[in-house]
Amino acid sequence: MLKCQHLVEKADALVDGSPISLRERLALRLHLMMCHHCRRYVRQLRALLGFLPRDKQPLEEAAIEDILKKLDTPQDQP
Ligand SMILES: [Zn+2]
Repeated sequence: MLKCQHLVEKADALVDGSPISLRERLALRLHLMMCHHCRRYVRQLRALLGFLPRDKQPLEEAAIEDILKKLDTPQDQP
């Protein structure tokens, strides 16, 4: 059985689509099915990556504004 520690180490690859072996991917998925702590971790990691630009260009001000808006979406405003 995979350890949480192992999943955390490999979570980046799982989330950003880096090449990992099929066997490893399956092991990670299996762990995620059973471990809600790691599910939450991966979900947060995924959300975080979703806000970040894929390239390494410095963020422009408009892009930063956009990210802040997404992060700070009011739930119960009219
Ligand atoms: Zn776990």
